[in-house]
Amino acid sequence: MTDVVILGGGTAGWMTACLIAHRWPGATVTLVESPEIGIVGVGEGSTPQLKGFFDTLGIAESDWMPACDATYKLGIGFDGWSDRPGYDRYFHPFPTALDSHTAASFFYATRARRTGRDVEAHPDRFLLPARLAADARAPQPAENFPFEVSYGYHFDAHKVGAFLAGHATGPLGVVHRQARVTTIERAPNGDVAALLCDDGARIAGDLFVDSSGFRSLIFGALEVPFVGYGDTLFNDSAVVMPTPGRTPVPSQTSATALSAGWVWDIPLTTRTGNGYVYSSRHLTPAQAEAELRTHLGIGDAGQARHLKMRVGRVRNSWSHNALAVGLAQGFLEPLEATALHLVIATVEAFLDAVDRGGTMPENRTAFNATIAARYDGVRDYIVAHYRLNQRNDDPVGYWAEARAVAPSDSLKGLMSAWFTGADMAAAIDQAGLGRYYSAISWHCLMAGYGTFPDAARLMPPGADIDRIDMARIDDFLTRCARNFDAHDRHLPHKDFP
Ligand SMILES: Cc1cc2nc3c(=O)[nH]c(=O)nc-3n(C[C@H](O)[C@H](O)[C@H](O)COP(=O)(O)OP(=O)(O)OC[C@H]3O[C@@H](n4cnc5c(N)ncnc54)[C@H](O)[C@@H]3O)c2cc1C
Repeated sequence: MTDVVILGGGTAGWMTACLIAHRWPGATVTLVESPEIGIVGVGEGSTPQLKGFFDTLGIAESDWMPACDATYKLGIGFDGWSDRPGYDRYFHPFPTALDSHTAASFFYATRARRTGRDVEAHPDRFLLPARLAADARAPQPAENFPFEVSYGYHFDAHKVGAFLAGHATGPLGVVHRQARVTTIERAPNGDVAALLCDDGARIAGDLFVDSSGFRSLIFGALEVPFVGYGDTLFNDSAVVMPTPGRTPVPSQTSATALSAGWVWDIPLTTRTGNGYVYSSRHLTPAQAEAELRTHLGIGDAGQARHLKMRVGRVRNSWSHNALAVGLAQGFLEPLEATALHLVIATVEAFLDAVDRGGTMPENRTAFNATIAARYDGVRDYIVAHYRLNQRNDDPVGYWAEARAVAPSDSLKGLMSAWFTGADMAAAIDQAGLGRYYSAISWHCLMAGYGTFPDAARLMPPGADIDRIDMARIDDFLTRCARNFDAHDRHLPHKDFP
């Protein structure tokens, strides 16, 4: 695989170009994109894997963050997904080394409350990133503080694409072509032989990457089946509009439930990204836009952009001599901002597979099974948000319908462990779900929505329950939080010294 051709210059295409050119310096990598088609231009929140991506490429935060209006992200605050008193909001943090000090108490407390004891079990009371995010602190500790906190970023999607294009075509030597691909030429054995462009060019190669977005041009031509997730994830539309930036700049994404979906709030240094991800079975685009405008309090000001999404994944991400990444590979709604994470995971797993075992069919089969399981694992976590929502403000019946979706067998097993008071960490291990979301994440989701017996039915904790010293945990978190500076002071951006 020395001649790599990438179709598409969105974030997925340029990330892939960087990773392949970095790992295989002897390969010729060509990226072709059509400026007139353009990129989807959303996707502005990440997981900590994006930090790993920039670290792999040797690109410092001080280089890319200012160029992309980027901010730090400690996790996601879920607002309005539950009506349970005391559980209207919770924070889902990225897992971090300091969790080992409080996670055991958190797990113990949730189990005690699940089995009917009146103990404090809200995740935000136990985990440091929730405290840091609530105070708009950055994830960088003071120098003498011996623990790191893991984090992701928020960024401008167009600017990240441009930054990565500069890195790919500069130090990494990727060839950039601008043309519209009209035909996928096949070889007699079914492989892709070349991309034919509207300017008459024929771009041949031995590996083709489909990062053509929802068009999925190459995988469409290869007729790779698509596995839809629409039966459990209803949201297939979005309406997007920016609002001005604000200070202090939050160090978290917010995901606020509305009548038929949820709205993201992604804070950049220069603006706030907002988008209502909703189900077109429950709302028209005009209704969704009106609801978003009301939520943002902006009346008729500004221009909204409407998007339709194809929800699910290709059955096989590696087919013939082609690899699918990004929206051409699949789409899971951005509730956990996992798309770029999946791009990185797919490309790295592919490079590992080829470096280890070449293009042998069994190698390809194993890779495809791994990536499909990863998608399905993330899908399960997102479905759990809907299945366990406790929102009764439900004018269009969306939230009740979401509570009734059929969970996968592994998710069903996990829910049954939760409701029967079983050991969740063991159940997560057994279902293999810990590979995609940690036990802490699962506990946050289930406890965060107040999925416990009604408060009136809880009994005071008796002598059989260890006392959880909340004052001590609170004091520990307060002392730790003092070691973290204000987010604004840490932003490596020209306007944020
Ligand atoms: C509403 C929404 C919110 C999202 N939020 C998040 C988030 O918070 N976090 C996250 O990680 N991800 C998120 N995503 C996903 C994220 O936007 C994408 O994964 C990411 O932008 C990568 O997109 P892409 O590169 O696959 O596709 P695109 O950006 O659509 O790029 C496709 C490329 O293919 C090119 N192309 C297409 N057809 C042709 C042709 N015939 N000839 C030549 N070139 C062609 C286009 O010109 C373009 O360059 C979100 C997605 C949506 C829809």
